[in-house]
Amino acid sequence: MEEFILQEEMMRARVPTVNGIGAFLLGPTLLAHGTDEQRAEHLPPIARGERAWAQGFSEPEAGSDLAGLRTRAVRANDEEHGDHYVVDGQKVWTSLGHNADWLFVLVRTDPDAAPKHRGITFLLVDVNTPGVTVRPIRDIRGDAPFSEIFFEGARVPVANRVGEENRGWYVAMDALSFERAGIGATIKHEQAIASLVEHIGTPEGREQLRDGWERGARQEIARRYVEMRVLYNIARFSVTNPVPGYEASVNQLFSAELHQRLARTGAHVFGKHGLLWQRRGAPLGAAFTHMRMDSVAATFLGGASEIQRNVIATRGLGLPRS
Ligand SMILES: Cc1cc2nc3c(=O)[nH]c(=O)nc-3n(C[C@H](O)[C@H](O)[C@H](O)COP(=O)(O)OP(=O)(O)OC[C@H]3O[C@@H](n4cnc5c(N)ncnc54)[C@H](O)[C@@H]3O)c2cc1C
Repeated sequence: MEEFILQEEMMRARVPTVNGIGAFLLGPTLLAHGTDEQRAEHLPPIARGERAWAQGFSEPEAGSDLAGLRTRAVRANDEEHGDHYVVDGQKVWTSLGHNADWLFVLVRTDPDAAPKHRGITFLLVDVNTPGVTVRPIRDIRGDAPFSEIFFEGARVPVANRVGEENRGWYVAMDALSFERAGIGATIKHEQAIASLVEHIGTPEGREQLRDGWERGARQEIARRYVEMRVLYNIARFSVTNPVPGYEASVNQLFSAELHQRLARTGAHVFGKHGLLWQRRGAPLGAAFTHMRMDSVAATFLGGASEIQRNVIATRGLGLPRS
């Protein structure tokens, strides 16, 4: 709850976040599952914003079906490296992977495990380990927000394992809950609505409004505002447990879909002006056009909406899995 309040105030003050993946995802996960040595080594640099982290879970054939991941880690021991794992495989869509100093990754340590998720282990990997290669991926806008990561015989000390061998799935589920909980997105939506309202009140904004659409704009913006206030309460609900459970999926699902509705509202309000991509001369520096592109990924990143609904249905409502 303290983190929630801090995050809310920092977002409202528009303070830039330094590597939120370390601060809001890995940090709480290490507090819940890490050893004393891991906490002592990693938490202070995360708190000081000195060590950037990225999350290496997804693979080319393992997104929603994360338990099907194939990156292999085999136990080994030699004089030079001590007790370690040799890691081979590939991760994909690793947000900020090309800026990361360290990665937290899921690897397969038992290829025969049934069910599949019982053969997965959670490791902390220094990106400078020989055998680790990071390649940025360009998106439709020409930005490179994520990367592919290749592991070729990378040796990772056993001391970098979080939780027990073959029990990393449960550590990862908690990390994903920390990712899906929280207030950050709500405040971003709140600020976007406030900027839209303010802009429409200016002479320039009135001129850019879609012809004859004042009443429609009023109705649609008011609807988004109500949804944003609902999301605020859902975000509070998402942190009611120290380690959020299905509540975090409620937050992620509602927030992602609101993100897309809000971006569409921007397009409706500005009509043809809402198609401008160049920032100069566009309403609000084309913020809503860019938001529209960003929001496409909202219902995928952090787990697809269908997967969040499955979590809510089975873990939240207790519905049968099949
Ligand atoms: C911007 C962005 C950033 C990302 N950052 C990271 C990151 O930092 N680290 C990381 O590890 N991953 C990251 N990802 C990957 C993300 O976690 C996956 O894209 C996501 O889990 C979906 O997997 P997929 O892309 O393989 O799609 P698929 O799993 O192939 O899904 C395709 C479609 O099938 C549907 N579907 C699949 N299974 C089911 C089911 N059981 N029931 C109903 N429908 C289903 C999905 O909902 C979806 O609509 C990122 C993705 C994006 C877009």
